Amino acid sequence: MILILKNDCEKAKYEKLTEWIKNLGLEIHCSRGENSTVLGLVGDTSKVDIDLVRSIDIVQSVKRISEPYKKANRKFHPLDTVVDVGGVKIGGGNFVLIAGPCSVESEEQIYSVAESVKKAGATVLRGGAFKPRTSPYSFQGLREKGLKMLLDAAKAVELPVVTEIMAINQLDLFADVDMIQVGARNMQNFELLKELGKTDKPILLKRGMSATIEELLMSAEYIMSEGNENVVLCERGIRTFEHYTRNTLDLSAVPVLQELTHLPIIADPSHASGIARLVEPMSLAAIGAGVDGLIIEVHNAPEKALCDAAQCIRPDEFSALVKKVDALLPVVGKKRK
Ligand code: PEP
Ligand code: MN
Repeated sequence: MILILKNDCEKAKYEKLTEWIKNLGLEIHCSRGENSTVLGLVGDTSKVDIDLVRSIDIVQSVKRISEPYKKANRKFHPLDTVVDVGGVKIGGGNFVLIAGPCSVESEEQIYSVAESVKKAGATVLRGGAFKPRTSPYSFQGLREKGLKMLLDAAKAVELPVVTEIMAINQLDLFADVDMIQVGARNMQNFELLKELGKTDKPILLKRGMSATIEELLMSAEYIMSEGNENVVLCERGIRTFEHYTRNTLDLSAVPVLQELTHLPIIADPSHASGIARLVEPMSLAAIGAGVDGLIIEVHNAPEKALCDAAQCIRPDEFSALVKKVDALLPVVGKKRK
């Protein structure tokens, strides 16, 4: 961390600041120029509150040199992490296709979708049982019953399953779930992240709709710092000024994340665009950007879907998309299954 001090910095204030820094266990390299004094802080600066340092009256500016995330940082773990979800590998050249409905609505629905996405080539089944809805009057998911239906359908078609957790007290219900999803709205539910960090379940961590890339990585760090390093990141669109799409799929985040972290990163073109006909072009664009997989909402009768109807694609559309995905994967040097 580099601190530039103001020109007219009083000696007493300077001494107080340097004493405080040393008490944090850091070394100081000081260089005095004609116009300013520069302090280089050496050591583990991850616990230094940069905003507090910035607010000190003799400090003109502060810059972090090393990132505040360590476990997720590619600097300390150069090779790609490969996360295993019930035998399906994600990352390090392994591409995952996750598909299924936004929410589990009935036994018939989830069995029908599970069968068709499996047949089309999906390698993991998705489906929400606990649904984070903007309105308390909207369908909230079938909860425990839905979870059971999802697990039964997944078992029947022999696919691992990913589903969203919304609260710590639901964790016991997730014992047989292969991968736990933390939704965009819970990306900064730090207590939940810490509890998930104590499990050994793969975690699908979705980017908050107004979260920066660094905030996403700090949330991954919460999980990893508790011991669980099986984290897959998901770019699912961020909120911008644009209203023609539900969110804006931030595809530039993909190569940026790949430089910063060794964790796999997948894209969710369904929630990003909110429009079924945009799912295919955005999926292909995401592959071009370098994702390690896609998570796509598929419904057997989208017009009747109880949640996110406008963005679900039909099984035949999913099947057509998979063919294009498979044609594109060799171009980016990835393989599926
Ligand atoms: C979902 O996957 O159904 C979901 C609610 O996603 P997000 O958290 O990205 O909105
Ligand atoms: Mn949804």
